[in-house]
Order: sequence, then structure tokens, then C-alpha cells
Amino acid sequence: MTVRVPSLALLALLLAACVSAPPAPQPLKPPADAAPPQAVPAPVLEQAAAPPVLVIDRLPDDFPHGGDPREAADIDLIVIHSIGGPTCKDGAIWFTPANGSAVFWRDWFLDQGGKSIHYVIGRDGDIAQQRPELRTAGHVSFGGIMTEVNRRSIGIELVNRGDGIEPFPVAQLEAARMLVADIAARYALPPEALVTHAALDDRMQPDCGGQPLRRNLDPGPLFPLEDVRAAVGANPFAGPGGD
Ligand SMILES: [Zn+2]
Repeated sequence: MTVRVPSLALLALLLAACVSAPPAPQPLKPPADAAPPQAVPAPVLEQAAAPPVLVIDRLPDDFPHGGDPREAADIDLIVIHSIGGPTCKDGAIWFTPANGSAVFWRDWFLDQGGKSIHYVIGRDGDIAQQRPELRTAGHVSFGGIMTEVNRRSIGIELVNRGDGIEPFPVAQLEAARMLVADIAARYALPPEALVTHAALDDRMQPDCGGQPLRRNLDPGPLFPLEDVRAAVGANPFAGPGGD
């Protein structure tokens, strides 16, 4: 009988057909003119600039305040001062240095018998309140151009030498704009309600070393009165203000 032995070539062909793996899938190639893949940018969340917030260091609610009570309708002026002012020392005009924060000077006013103020604004824009707005404070002495100023006004002290040389820092002026705008909004006051102490009192001190010397120059010629007045009505801040 005849046994048919497959040829070696046929065996090799069969073996190859059994063990050969299917061809690996070829990656899809982009067309030659395709643009390279771009990284998808993360969505940018539009963040509206947060309005600045008026931060005020206040005394406790049960603090035994001085001054006289008054009505909101009594208030029609905001008087701006500087802590420093001219004095005569050894025959020369000299300005007090006025170092310290708003809280330091607020606490200084607490120890004064006759002087008091509603707000103090520090060089860093820090604000401290001494007297509630609906109580009078003694910040403009009787006898100037306008009488009864304390009865009708809110007083603000800026920590500054008031010598016309020391500039008012940006942070301090920004705090002043915010505070003045807040007060004006709550009492429906026009920009012109903001006045300087110097504008209310032009009385003179005795000559100093032969030089004439005014009692009050504050807050001084570097204070941008019209710029701060312009903040009234703009209301670019978020409260809370008032007391
Ligand atoms: Zn003053």
C-alpha cells in the first residue's frame, strides 16, 4: 500500500497557516496635510473683580460712648482732618509726626477729654471707629467759620503729619473714598458735603518766630479733595458700613 507523505513544502505551508498571528492592526495615519493635534485649553472661569469691602474696627456694642445723641437728618457734613498739625516749637513751626495705626489713634482719642472723632483711617487703609455716627464728636472747635459743626457732621481723621510734605498713601486714600462714599450714600449727601477742617476754621495762632501760623491747615494741600468727592455716588464697594 502506498502511504502518501506530504511534501516538506506543503507541511511548512500548513504549519505557517496554523501558527501565524493575524496581522497587527495598523494605526490610522492622519493625512499628511492634517494639522497637528492641539491641546484643548481648560475653560477659563470669568471672575468678576470682587468689590472692595469696607472693614472697620469697632468698639464693643456696650461701650460707654460720650457725645450727644442725634438724628440721621441732623447730618449733612463730613469733615476730613489729619492727625498732625502745626505747632510752634522754639520759635519754629513744627508738625507732629503722627506715627501709629488707626486703632492706635482711635484709642488715643478715647483718652482725650475734649477731642473725639468718628473714624480714623491709617496709612495702610486701616479704619477704626471711635464714636457712633448718631452721637456727636468734638473734632471742630467752636469759633471757626461755621458754628455748630460738630452737631451736624461726621469727622474723619487721616493718620498723616498734615504738613503738606508727607503724601497720602494709595491704600489710605482708597479707604477714604470708600468710607466717604458709604457715609454719603447712607445719609443721601452730595459730594460737596465733604469738607476739610482747614476750610471751616481760618483762625490764626500767635505768630511763631515772626511767622504767621494758622490753627488748622488739615488735612493739608496734598489731600485730593475733589478726587475723594468724586467717589460719592460711584458706590464701588460692598458694605457693611455704618454703625
Ligand atoms: Zn482737624
